[in-house]
Amino acid sequence: MMAMAFDEEVDLLVIGAGAGGMTAALSGAIAGLSVLLCEKTGMVGGTTATSGGTTWVPGTELSHRAGVPDSAEDAAAFLRHVVGNRGGDARREAFLAAGAKAIAEIERHSEVRFVAAAAHPDYLDGPGSAYGGRALAPVEFDGRLLGADFDRVRPPRDVFMGLGGMMVGRGELGALLAPFASASNMATALKILLRYARDWLGHRRGTRLLMGNALVARLFYSLRRREVPIWFDSPLTDFIRDGQAVIGAVIETPQGLRRIRARRGVVLATGGIGWNRALRERLFPPQIAPFSQAPEGNSGDGIALAVERAGAALDDGCDSAGLWMPCSLLGRPDGSQAIWPHIILDRAKPGLIAIGRDGRRFVNEAGSYHDFCMGMIRAGLSEAWLVADAGFVRRYGLGLVLPGGRGLRRLLRQGYLQRAGNLVALAAAIGVDAQGLAESVQANNRFAETGSDADFGRGSTVMNRFNGDPEVKPNPCLGPIRQAPFYALRVVPVDLAGSGGLDCNADAQVLDREGRPIPGLYACGNDAGSIFRGTYPGPGTTIGPAMVFGWKIARQLAKRG
Ligand SMILES: Cc1cc2nc3c(=O)[nH]c(=O)nc-3n(C[C@H](O)[C@H](O)[C@H](O)COP(=O)(O)OP(=O)(O)OC[C@H]3O[C@@H](n4cnc5c(N)ncnc54)[C@H](O)[C@@H]3O)c2cc1C
Repeated sequence: MMAMAFDEEVDLLVIGAGAGGMTAALSGAIAGLSVLLCEKTGMVGGTTATSGGTTWVPGTELSHRAGVPDSAEDAAAFLRHVVGNRGGDARREAFLAAGAKAIAEIERHSEVRFVAAAAHPDYLDGPGSAYGGRALAPVEFDGRLLGADFDRVRPPRDVFMGLGGMMVGRGELGALLAPFASASNMATALKILLRYARDWLGHRRGTRLLMGNALVARLFYSLRRREVPIWFDSPLTDFIRDGQAVIGAVIETPQGLRRIRARRGVVLATGGIGWNRALRERLFPPQIAPFSQAPEGNSGDGIALAVERAGAALDDGCDSAGLWMPCSLLGRPDGSQAIWPHIILDRAKPGLIAIGRDGRRFVNEAGSYHDFCMGMIRAGLSEAWLVADAGFVRRYGLGLVLPGGRGLRRLLRQGYLQRAGNLVALAAAIGVDAQGLAESVQANNRFAETGSDADFGRGSTVMNRFNGDPEVKPNPCLGPIRQAPFYALRVVPVDLAGSGGLDCNADAQVLDREGRPIPGLYACGNDAGSIFRGTYPGPGTTIGPAMVFGWKIARQLAKRG
């Protein structure tokens, strides 16, 4: 080691500028460490920037402030129920023990701000499940504060922006779609549109940042204020080792290769499996689409390099190596593909079923996106169809078709969804069994009358009903499908995050194949195997642990002295 030459020396070297990496870097700087953050692309944010930004951290002070007090003990009971005996308990305990402290400290010493949602239920019912307080929403951020750095914030995916570059919050969509429905709708719509019009004068997109974009911009702004160096276009290409220990890394910068010594540790936060073909083939089931929702720069570098060059062990994610969303696809004239994840807007609304090629249902469609896709995997389905009638599409929209049926004609022309005057013709148009479809619709219509889905329990959980239509009785998730024309939209399961990753212990140290910590090597975010072992307990359960472990790594290393 004495003979090794380094171009740079820092306490903490962080690889990847998403939620995990930026939190580790920021927390390191807060704790007084010298930090270097290396990012492969020209922008911060990774998948985090394109996400909902919801951050699941139980028992925070924010939950009390929001009037929905939550506790780590309740969350522990809930996780025992959801995760059961799948192992990894020590990491979940470490997450729960650190969570509230991590969020409080980050908020106190930076520009990162959250509010606890009073109503954003966990994805499953059980002892200790929460209706609100646990899912933290990043507070809106004014991108203009970043000055020229605003262009370094990865924009949301274009399907999530209105008018070519405007972010719209979950609660604002209704006002924008129906501005004349009430005075408050009009006021909201005007406020959003006027701000966006002003942004057009000086920016390439709207500067009113929400959700994942707000979280990333707040982390970035905080890093800039603390003058933490960020190297852009600078991917990790190798580790520098001294025996078993990782003592630094080789970074490929626009000026050439740089060897960085990391006195206390190297943190991997490169966003997980993402587009890495070898890892996908090894770990993902064959039903999963051959593309990811992560930006293409997320090519599994951290995991692959740690396994190949540092002797790290791979964690297969237990129940599932990925976390999934059912997505519909639209081929664009330029050959690209728009991917629309069906997260909350349509699947749980009354009057929709999902079927496989046999025309039959296979899952509770109103469950979480991950559980919906796990249903597909269990049934051996690589594609499924969401089926609804004319009234449903008009009222709720369907995928890219907005409520009121906006965009419907164009999207039909583009082959995004299919329409037919009766169910037999619809079955023929999409190539599914007509008898199966007819029987599934008949059963659905019976269930809509009784309010009870005898086959899959649609509308039976708190989260199901939260995403349903409260005006529909007796079950807000059940409604008839009978008003022609009928529609079918194809969905495929796509990863939103890895659940498999590097095998880590409760201190976020990466483990070798004998289960021993590799000195100097840490992982957070999707580079680390998920602490929820392939289950998806609630909204924000990837970013929550990414931030908490990012904070914990920096804190530990600062204390070590
Ligand atoms: C539509 C959608 C909505 C979602 N909503 C939520 C939500 O609300 N809440 C939630 O918890 N999860 C959500 N997720 C999942 C969540 O976005 C990710 O799990 C999370 O953002 C991953 O964070 P990360 O820090 O691990 O990686 P990322 O945010 O992807 O960051 C990784 C960074 O590492 C960089 N990188 C890659 N390779 C290298 C290299 N070799 N060297 C240097 N840098 C490198 C990448 O360029 C990238 O900037 C959503 C996902 C999708 C697709």
